[in-house]
Amino acid sequence: MDEKSYVSTIAPTKEGDINLRLPEKLDISVVVPLYNEEGNVRELHRRILEACQKLNKPFEIIFIDDGSSDATVKNCEGLRPLKLIKFRKNFGQTAAFDAGIKEAKGDIVITMDGDLQNDPNDIKLLLEEMEKGYDVVSGWRWQRKDTLSKHLASRTANLLRKVLIHDKIHDSGCSLKAYKRECFNDVDLFGEMHRFIPAILEIEGYRVGEVKVSHHARVHGKTKYNWKRGIKGVVDMISIWFWRSYSNRPLHLFGGTGIVFSLAGLIILVWMALEKIIFGTAISEKIWPLMGVFLILVGIQLFVFGLLADIMVKTYYKNRNHMNYSIKEIINQ
Ligand code: UDP
Ligand code: MG
Repeated sequence: MDEKSYVSTIAPTKEGDINLRLPEKLDISVVVPLYNEEGNVRELHRRILEACQKLNKPFEIIFIDDGSSDATVKNCEGLRPLKLIKFRKNFGQTAAFDAGIKEAKGDIVITMDGDLQNDPNDIKLLLEEMEKGYDVVSGWRWQRKDTLSKHLASRTANLLRKVLIHDKIHDSGCSLKAYKRECFNDVDLFGEMHRFIPAILEIEGYRVGEVKVSHHARVHGKTKYNWKRGIKGVVDMISIWFWRSYSNRPLHLFGGTGIVFSLAGLIILVWMALEKIIFGTAISEKIWPLMGVFLILVGIQLFVFGLLADIMVKTYYKNRNHMNYSIKEIINQ
């Protein structure tokens, strides 16, 4: 297959006629991670194709097989246009998004889930919102079709996110989003960070918008996540809070807290010494001297930790071309 032929354009001639030639430039890249979605891929591809054709803009479709053990890859056979990225093993949805986004050639990157819960027809809404001047438009599943437990978990996470990160978005867990490609020029995605991309981008100064999208219940296959995601989500959120506020000055957080702790410890010890000297109080049975020493030690530790974090952050900024996944092959079909 010709290197360039995965690209599809809509010839301005006949509606619905797929013309497999390379356009001068691609407008839209649709990026979809797939992990054991054998029952969904074909229908998914059909719906994306149909929705993109209606847009009358050159587009490409990128699927990332995230190490599926079922017939997902096999079921991608014959789907055109399609760029299929195969991971060697399951690296997770965030890594899959990252790989897909890095392969994307369109000016606008659309991400979505591969389980048919998002509706490709909503891409149009995202693009319209984007024209208002946003760099990122996030979908908001205002009427979710998920189980109650998932609903509650998501609500709690969104609430916590608002407090910690203040990213003004209702539903950051919705994968259906549109980005200008330049958004990713200096963003690498790790862990399970894909849910917080708008927050990360907002930190970098990009304009983030939101639009209500539809959401469907999962029909084929099952969800890949459970309660553990909740815990990881909270940890990720703290990491982003740290990133947002202190990523380039960790010493202010750790060193600052360290100094406060040490000072508190010192004040306690001085106070104890005065009590002993002036009033002759017996302090050996009190908890306070121990507390004072403890606080001073913890404070020193935090300060040293802050210095180390400072060194690490500086190294990080110099050394950003390491990724946490490995691609087996990329197929143009
Ligand atoms: N997914 C993936 N790798 C994973 C887990 C999930 O690529 O390790 C994909 C999955 O195939 C689907 C999307 O990410 O296209 C969302 O997953 P899922 O529907 O299980 O999440 P939920 O909608 O239940 O939050
Ligand atoms: Mg889903």
